[in-house]
Amino acid sequence: MKVLGIETSCDETGVAVYDTDAGLRAHALYSQIALHAEYGGVVPELASRDHVRKLLPLIRQTLAEAGLGIEDLDGVAYTAGPGLVGALLVGAGVARALAWALEVPAIGVHHMEGHLLAPLLEDGPAGRPQPPFVALLVSGGHTQLIHVEAIGRYRLLGETLDDAAGEAFDKTAKLMGLPYPGGPQLAMLAERGRPQAFRFSRPMTDRPGLDFSFSGLKTQVLLAWRDSDQSDRTRADVARGFEDAVVDTLAIKCGRALDASGCDTLVVAGGVGANKRLRARLQAMAEQRGGRVAFPRPAFCTDNGAMIAFAGALRLRAGQHDDASVRVTPRWDMASLEPVVSG
Ligand code: ATP
Ligand code: MG
Ligand code: FE
Repeated sequence: MKVLGIETSCDETGVAVYDTDAGLRAHALYSQIALHAEYGGVVPELASRDHVRKLLPLIRQTLAEAGLGIEDLDGVAYTAGPGLVGALLVGAGVARALAWALEVPAIGVHHMEGHLLAPLLEDGPAGRPQPPFVALLVSGGHTQLIHVEAIGRYRLLGETLDDAAGEAFDKTAKLMGLPYPGGPQLAMLAERGRPQAFRFSRPMTDRPGLDFSFSGLKTQVLLAWRDSDQSDRTRADVARGFEDAVVDTLAIKCGRALDASGCDTLVVAGGVGANKRLRARLQAMAEQRGGRVAFPRPAFCTDNGAMIAFAGALRLRAGQHDDASVRVTPRWDMASLEPVVSG
């Protein structure tokens, strides 16, 4: 079954074709970062308009790269939420129109389920992980630990009480004068920073529980940066101290979540999952525990069409689809999703 996937929840237009027999056939991404950079954040109305401008050309490009015609598609998957309502409606409208014209089923995918399943999109050295496992979702808007009992059956173990991990990276980068969106740049700076030059706290690790809090860390960095010489060297050292604090905190809680759920497999997804130090740290933890950790390739940690095509394909293959109305769900609880029982 060949499924077209469309992602338009925020500031990335992502398109892909996933084939349930042959795997990922092609994918393309257009990032609106340059458009929003001068405003220091995503402007929803501009995001919607840019999705309108880019989506059809990207669909054509992706189909051409896959060597497929539009009539070869057996289904369409699109991000139906959570996200910016106007941006979501662009993807949903195009996806629904295509599915209607082609007379194929279409399904609205939960953006975070897309992220969560991205590590299962491709074979790793040890094959694809199978549930049950624990998922760490670390993106720009979410930081969650989820017990994945089966595909589609998600139990929240813990989440951030304030900023998401990616949001903390972006805000911390901004307060040290890095341009938007600063998370990846902060991580690059941290590679040159000295460990221990600055030591920040590991929030909420001194008490039981699997929730997170990252907003206090940002304030600690603000004070340290304000009182420093603000040299390039110091900026890198502070970045390193911040990154180590986030990575350490995430790793400690992942270990606890694996203990609490009795799982030996951890999957990691979302933009912060591209962070090299986090990947190395969780890999070392998995080896030490005799368990396993799986990540998407870095390009599929951040928003992309491949994860939506894949998540949608699993559901469409199991016979699920939505009715023909154009509907999106800007706020959507993952625990309310239907399990996927594949035949
Ligand atoms: P959500 O999926 O919760 O709606 P989102 O789609 O905006 O949010 P993603 O695209 O998954 O989030 O990830 C973007 C986030 O990942 C940004 O906050 C960015 O700073 C962060 N990020 C990307 N690369 C890195 C990296 N190498 N190190 C740390 N953070 C990173
Ligand atoms: Mg984005
Ligand atoms: Fe995302």
